[in-house]
Amino acid sequence: MSLGEFDIIARYFASHDHRADVLLGVGDDAAVLETREGLRLVVATDTIVEGVHFPRSIDASAVGYRALAVNLSDIAAMGAEPSWMTLSLSLPEAAEPWIAGFAAGLLELAEQHDVALVGGDTVRGPLVVTVQLAGWVEEDRWLTRAGARPGDLLMVSGIPGEAAAGLHVIQQHMPLTETTAQLQWRFLRPRPRIALGRQLRTVASAAMDISDGLLIDLQKLCAASHCGALLNIDALPPSLAMRELFDEETAIDYALAGGDDYELLFTLPPDELPDLLAQRDPAVPLTSIGVIVAGGGVQCERRGAPFMPRRSGYDHFVVDGSV
Ligand code: ADP
Ligand code: MG
Repeated sequence: MSLGEFDIIARYFASHDHRADVLLGVGDDAAVLETREGLRLVVATDTIVEGVHFPRSIDASAVGYRALAVNLSDIAAMGAEPSWMTLSLSLPEAAEPWIAGFAAGLLELAEQHDVALVGGDTVRGPLVVTVQLAGWVEEDRWLTRAGARPGDLLMVSGIPGEAAAGLHVIQQHMPLTETTAQLQWRFLRPRPRIALGRQLRTVASAAMDISDGLLIDLQKLCAASHCGALLNIDALPPSLAMRELFDEETAIDYALAGGDDYELLFTLPPDELPDLLAQRDPAVPLTSIGVIVAGGGVQCERRGAPFMPRRSGYDHFVVDGSV
């Protein structure tokens, strides 16, 4: 059955705007939101496009989940707490099962993070989903890419590479096993590191999330901080799942250049590390993978010798950007 634009909004998107700071939500010409003294507003937006950011075959709920997850990851990288989102949805057709699945995936994650859906737009066109997400951060300090200093440790959360390996599993229709399912899940359901970002807010000197690939994103952090990094390939967090399915070189390619990780890459002075590790969530691995150095650019080292990566990362306009 095909639904009209207003039915879609009323049935799936109109009543998820319940937060005390939403004065006017979905249904009028714009939303009205309450601001708070002592806090700064943080805003991020990200678009995902079928065939570019996710393959046509994936489940509608994963599309909804990922559309918000990628934005939550940006908010996490700022050390902020998410609050409101708008949703711009371009759909080729108003197929109700697809929209229902999409809304379920999106709103499940929104609920986990107390994010209200306060507005949006619904149009016919190629499948493109844009979420704009706002959040709050204390006015005394928020995280940026720009504060890394020589001598700082370079750290990463989670296991970079597993999401890209999961995308490969999906694209190659690899047989379903516990291992392939686990990797697929990393791509389909990335866990935005909001709690970690909040913890890093007063500790990290610089932070960003990894979306295009560890190496290319680290280069961005170094450029913003006017410094360089020495990345120790041997220190990358090992992935048992990747080890089972791929050779070591391929696993390194995924870890360095796969993208889609939505983990946090951050730097901090070494004396801050013990406190951070003492307070960490045991479910989120934190690994020291290198150091910040003077100069610029990223040098990789493996087994004590310089190492030249085979791939560098994702750029929409440089490589073939289709999935
Ligand atoms: P307008 O024509 O003024 O842009 P619309 O008819 O597009 O209004 O939207 C009506 C209301 O529904 C607005 O409050 C808008 O923010 C909201 N809305 C439209 N699409 C979505 C969506 N996909 N998710 C959430 N809210 C939506
Ligand atoms: Mg409109």
